[in-house]
Amino acid sequence: MNRRNALVFMTTQVGLLWLAANGFATNANKSNHKMVTSENIKIYSAEKGEYILTNKVLKSDAEWKKLLTSEQYHVLREEGTERAFTGKLLKNKEYGVYRCAACGNDLYHSNHKFDSGTGWPSYYQAIAAENVSTRVDRSFFSIRNELICSRCESHLGHVFDDGPAPTGKRHCINSISLIFHKLDK
Ligand SMILES: [Zn+2]
Repeated sequence: MNRRNALVFMTTQVGLLWLAANGFATNANKSNHKMVTSENIKIYSAEKGEYILTNKVLKSDAEWKKLLTSEQYHVLREEGTERAFTGKLLKNKEYGVYRCAACGNDLYHSNHKFDSGTGWPSYYQAIAAENVSTRVDRSFFSIRNELICSRCESHLGHVFDDGPAPTGKRHCINSISLIFHKLDK
């Protein structure tokens, strides 16, 4: 390789490196961009009987305060717990879907509700695994698995391992976090 060819070769290599770096950067930007806009989530819709794509509902504390009653805000946004045996939906046995009181996301089906005797509406599973998420709650010096709405991340209650078959789980949910919507059988 003579000097001139070596120079051309080196220039080409630098050019390729630049392209590679630039290409990677562009890809990185694209995926970042995707992350920012991918606020769509796949959840199950009881009314449609299928999975749907919907937007996440993310609001500031001030916005939530305007939308919710102070009792709802305390439970849904400050991880509060309503007093046992006070919830309106505790004894509800109608056929239908229990939705998030903050964003309307379907959370539980009446088919999965059972009487746990604890004083809070209890379900052995969510309407679909995608609709309810867990978050580790380290308050009160213990570790409990907190349940939150997958769409708006509002606090619903906690999940325990002493539920009935077929899951053995007990989703212990604040009635105030829920809105009941009757469905036709
Ligand atoms: Zn929600």
